[in-house]
Amino acid sequence: MTIIYIGVGSNIGDRHQNIERARQLLITGGIAVKRVSPLYESKAICRPGETMPDFLNGVFEIETNLSPEDLLDKLEAVERELGRKEKGNWQPRTIDLDLLLYGNEVIQTKRLKVPHPDIEKRWFVVKPLVDLNPKLMHPTLKKRMEELYANLH
Ligand code: AMP
Repeated sequence: MTIIYIGVGSNIGDRHQNIERARQLLITGGIAVKRVSPLYESKAICRPGETMPDFLNGVFEIETNLSPEDLLDKLEAVERELGRKEKGNWQPRTIDLDLLLYGNEVIQTKRLKVPHPDIEKRWFVVKPLVDLNPKLMHPTLKKRMEELYANLH
């Protein structure tokens, strides 16, 4: 089965509990959440002059037979279930779920970009991926997660 990585982030309420509830909702929805990375605090990316609470970020390693599009539907359903109302950047969120990597698949549709285009720019995504699988190869950059992490310094 394809190994898939989901980026998780929360910056409202009990952030640990929100991430745990997202994990449980995915499992209830039939998705095998195999591993959860360590979680890291990161500063929210804000508009100039604005502030937002810090995020707690991590990565889930999952397995599923769902197609990438069907999986994105599930991720968005979990976001809604956990009370996230706003889409887009610069919004506080109970939970944010991003489809980071779907095996080695490369997808470029209007709705879905995989590998997620921001992976290599964000230490709070790359570091949890390194924790889970340092030798994992980024399918388009052709670099291992540990190399991408080294490049961020
Ligand atoms: P966000 O506000 O970060 O949750 O962004 C969600 C939007 O990004 C949705 O409209 C998705 O269709 C789109 N999107 C594109 N690629 C991805 C991806 N790999 N994972 C999650 N959302 C994606």
